[in-house]
Amino acid sequence: MKSTSSHDYIQLGEMFLDAKGISEARLSSERLLEAALGRSRISLFTDSNFPISKTERNRFFNFLRKRGEFYPLQYLLGSVAFRNLELTINKDVLIPRPETELLIDVVHEFFSHETSFTALDIGTGSGNIALSLLDEFPESEVTALDISKPALHVAEENAQRLKLRDRINFLKSNVLDSLNNSLRFDLIVSNPPYISLDQKEKLQKELDFEPSEALFSGTTGLECVEKILAQAKPYLKPEGLIIMELGLGQVEKAQRYACQHGYKKVMVKKDYSGINRILVLRG
Ligand code: GLN
Repeated sequence: MKSTSSHDYIQLGEMFLDAKGISEARLSSERLLEAALGRSRISLFTDSNFPISKTERNRFFNFLRKRGEFYPLQYLLGSVAFRNLELTINKDVLIPRPETELLIDVVHEFFSHETSFTALDIGTGSGNIALSLLDEFPESEVTALDISKPALHVAEENAQRLKLRDRINFLKSNVLDSLNNSLRFDLIVSNPPYISLDQKEKLQKELDFEPSEALFSGTTGLECVEKILAQAKPYLKPEGLIIMELGLGQVEKAQRYACQHGYKKVMVKKDYSGINRILVLRG
């Protein structure tokens, strides 16, 4: 009898995920088999008739079952690519999104590669923004805050593994509540939680598995943004910048609030879908 090849497993996984209404069923099945076997995707195709053990098969089926319940693919894989980095993630942190990479592009518009500067990252999660800054600006130093201790643990492990630990400090803090008020930064970055709680029911099922404190911010979605703007000004050096990501339709409101608190708008950057996504302010 012909044994089941990796190709057969991929097809089986695709059919299962497709029937459950999971998007990108084929790609997900391939990536989950790759993770279950600890092999590269290429090797699944170039040599598809290697033996697959019972343990590996069970691991694959477990992954499929979880993905079929809308558990996010990235949590099952345990890592995600962001800018130049491969970050380890788990359900304690928000899954870094591609549009957040744009925030780092915006930083490059204001700081050159060689500049030495200090930055503060509010709500660091996996450390994606903070660690990308350290990676792309070798003279920078970052303080990374998060309200969640388990999230800080993930970010710290990433910093350690990527050999960026010596230029970053971590602190558990709800926005700036616990930060020493004598500190001053050239740059404050944040991708704060900005989804309105009213939206909760309408969102993709995958979001149920991400930490809700990393996603939602009151009924307006702007509570955390307002808390950041209310607290951040004294922490900026003269000419210091705030660069933050916002949700659909929020830039105008955030801008108005910022002006009332004495910030000056510097620029707004759209994402690839044409949505005003990144707001840059001067203190
Ligand atoms: N800084 C992380 C990110 O951009 C986490 C943000 C958050 O938890 N809201 O993905």
